[in-house]
Amino acid sequence: MCETHDHQHFESAGQYPAFEECVTFHGHSCPGLATGYRAALAAMQALGVARPYDEELVTVAETNACGVDAIQLVTGCTAGKGNLVIHDYGKHVFTFYAREKNKAVRILIKNREMPDRAEMDSLRKKVFAGTVNETEQKRFYGLMAEATEELLLIPQDEMLTVTEVAYNPPEKARIFQTVICPDCGEPVADAKMQTVNGKAVCATCALPKTE
Ligand SMILES: [Zn+2]
Ligand SMILES: [Zn+2]
Repeated sequence: MCETHDHQHFESAGQYPAFEECVTFHGHSCPGLATGYRAALAAMQALGVARPYDEELVTVAETNACGVDAIQLVTGCTAGKGNLVIHDYGKHVFTFYAREKNKAVRILIKNREMPDRAEMDSLRKKVFAGTVNETEQKRFYGLMAEATEELLLIPQDEMLTVTEVAYNPPEKARIFQTVICPDCGEPVADAKMQTVNGKAVCATCALPKTE
């Protein structure tokens, strides 16, 4: 699915990671990744964050789709650092909080008319079902590449809205103590222990037993 983009993208010049870096991280180029890339750049520009990592940012993503990978790479908000929170509401909405600036913006991705969407969707189903033939497969990846290119090049206003919102970031991930689950004997963060029949066990052991 990877496509090589050999032309210059609008403003990746130096200041922010290039889209190609996101493709390497994500594993393929796709419209979702391009969307996340544009959202991250729009947010960082609106917040006046010159480069990634030079300021503490927190991102709340309301989807867990491909775009989140571009956001992690561009903003430095990552799942492992705890400054990326995913509430999968199935919405292309991303809120970014800049701690030092005490400022936050909400990015909403607009629903755009895509003439080839129906064809792309039906081809995608076939690709995932493994029933696609060579011509259809080529067509699918061609359409995907076109859609990705377009998303990287269209003016920002056509693609998304940026709204300043109150600075009210989610709490940072707290540091957990490690305890040993009495059932499986495996180490687990104390805050994740669950009580089953009056006994504290890990989440896996708390699952209903299937017999
Ligand atoms: Zn993808
Ligand atoms: Zn256990």
